[in-house]
Amino acid sequence: MDLLELIIDFHIDGKRQGPGSDEATKKALSFIPQLNEHSQILDIGCGTGAQTMILAQNTNANIIAVDMLPQFLGRLNKKIDDKNLNNRVGTKCLSMDSLPFEEKSFDVIWSEGAIYNIGFEKGLSQWRKYLKDNGYIAVSEISWLTDTRPSEIDEYWINAYSEIDTIDTKLSIIEKCGYTPITHFALDDHCWIDNYYKPIFERSEAFINKYNYSKEVKEFVEAGKIEAEMYTRFKEYYSYVFYIAKRVG
Ligand code: SAH
Repeated sequence: MDLLELIIDFHIDGKRQGPGSDEATKKALSFIPQLNEHSQILDIGCGTGAQTMILAQNTNANIIAVDMLPQFLGRLNKKIDDKNLNNRVGTKCLSMDSLPFEEKSFDVIWSEGAIYNIGFEKGLSQWRKYLKDNGYIAVSEISWLTDTRPSEIDEYWINAYSEIDTIDTKLSIIEKCGYTPITHFALDDHCWIDNYYKPIFERSEAFINKYNYSKEVKEFVEAGKIEAEMYTRFKEYYSYVFYIAKRVG
């Protein structure tokens, strides 16, 4: 069985494909100066577009939402159609590490729970050129909330995502990549549990059943459950943190 197909099937009906919430998206947006009908937003790694729709409904901006998975974009296209937003919201199937846009074409780059796929530093430095001078970037990235932590969770996350680091280190990477940090805030429990882990695990039994209780599928779901358990046990030490920053020059 193809792992990518499993991942898609496991996540496509989730509220979001990563931790987040409508409130957190709106809060991050509130730090960005008022956008208008001429503003251009690029939403990278949009998934099925929970945050795309919030951006669309809370601004008059034009939005291009990109993801490498057409299945997720199909869901977002339906939401865009349902809300009659085709005139200013569109999707493109693209890889975030080779975007075809012109330099300085966006006022805002948005990316929730996705930049880790290319790496925080690489994403920030590669995407900067697409922002207009003084444009804004809003990205969420898993970060350590404390300077020290139990070795069990340290090892778990270093193994899963070696770029996980403290907020201070993330802020210095943002600066190094040519941005001025504006603000940051950690995502709360609701973003992880109610909007991410709970909806997917509520379907996990039916999911395993659908694949005839195959060993591979059971292991896949089990790995997800371990991640969720880690969160419950060690959530005081890490979270996704939303970073809002401005392109310098
Ligand atoms: N922003 C959404 C989805 C986050 S999950 C949300 O918060 O709900 C991460 C998303 O990044 C997935 O939809 C995945 O398909 C996409 N992704 C992963 N690697 C990518 C790449 N190289 N290029 C574009 N999208 C990618």
